[in-house]
Amino acid sequence: MAEHRGVMIFGEAEEGKLTAITTELLGCGRKLASDLGQELSCLLAGSNVSSLAREVIAFGAEKVYVVDDPLLKDYQTDSYVLVSEKVVRQAMPQILLIGHTSIGRDLAPRLAFRLGTIASTDCVELAIDPDSKWLLQTKPVYGGNAQAIFTGESYPQIATVRAKAMSPLERDDSRQGEVITIEAGLDPQAIRTKVLEKVVEEVEGIKLEDAEAVVCGGRGIGGAEGFRQLEELAKILKGAVGASRPPCDNDWVPSSYQIGLTGKIIAPNLYIAVALSGSSQHMTGCSGTKNIVAINKDPEANIFREAKFGVVGDWKELLPAFTNKVKELLDG
Ligand SMILES: Cc1cc2nc3c(=O)[nH]c(=O)nc-3n(C[C@H](O)[C@H](O)[C@H](O)COP(=O)(O)OP(=O)(O)OC[C@H]3O[C@@H](n4cnc5c(N)ncnc54)[C@H](O)[C@@H]3O)c2cc1C
Repeated sequence: MAEHRGVMIFGEAEEGKLTAITTELLGCGRKLASDLGQELSCLLAGSNVSSLAREVIAFGAEKVYVVDDPLLKDYQTDSYVLVSEKVVRQAMPQILLIGHTSIGRDLAPRLAFRLGTIASTDCVELAIDPDSKWLLQTKPVYGGNAQAIFTGESYPQIATVRAKAMSPLERDDSRQGEVITIEAGLDPQAIRTKVLEKVVEEVEGIKLEDAEAVVCGGRGIGGAEGFRQLEELAKILKGAVGASRPPCDNDWVPSSYQIGLTGKIIAPNLYIAVALSGSSQHMTGCSGTKNIVAINKDPEANIFREAKFGVVGDWKELLPAFTNKVKELLDG
């Protein structure tokens, strides 16, 4: 029986471009493959994705398995599971990394079942055990209150990886690699669902997940009107506005603003937390943030344990002065 070897990542493309998580997986996969002394490959499935194979190599892969077929235009469980299973059975990787995206969350467990292995989801750290060479998969547990390390003794070891948890390599177009084309061989009858309509979320300005500065409001903001002030600061910082769960549940802001365990995962350079307590479920969504600044009237609020800088006081008094000062500094 052929031996499982190497690290494979599942690449995702959106509007003709590799997604950020794909380059992050390549960066992480490269390190794991080097630690094992093995090869890094990428499974790139979709419609019109062949042209992206060279880019995948520039970000660290040695081999790219391309499955380019019009039937793969939209993600559909049936088609992607079939194609992924086919490629993985051919390539026989030891490790398969998939982004913890809406696609990855659906694909990973189904694929693991098909391949008779297991998948651990939402990993934030991955390493090779120096003795056994198994993949050690670290993920938050108990609502983000603790982290646990898992491993599974069956190949391929499948892990979905949280966005922004890993760093991509610098793009290097001189990197060499091999592109292998695989026929999808899909029977349209095997795809039991049809995508009837796609509704693209309208975002004004920069996307929350991509912003380098995020101004986030909590329950203490008190209503939709208060969020206008946060928007003003975010605009000056060329950033985005986010929220904890209560403002979304209360319809002060759209649910797409929510950051946390059941919301978006962000890792900006600057995160300004205004009138939110810093619950573990919230902080899980911004644990990769570099600088947290907190404004809260309660000196005992948990957010001050996480923040680099904090101001105790009423946000209604503090924020206008803070916003003016930031504007003055950035203008000057
Ligand atoms: C399964 C599960 C999943 C969850 N997922 C998420 C998630 O994804 N994201 C999320 O955010 N939450 C999530 N939650 C909810 C979470 O547990 C908390 O309830 C929530 O994060 C609290 O939001 P908050 O900090 O805005 O509100 P609170 O905890 O009520 O804190 C409000 C803060 O505002 C301060 N404040 C009030 N008025 C002012 C003022 N005028 N000036 C300055 N400070 C003021 C208060 O001192 C207080 O610290 C989840 C919970 C569960 C059980």
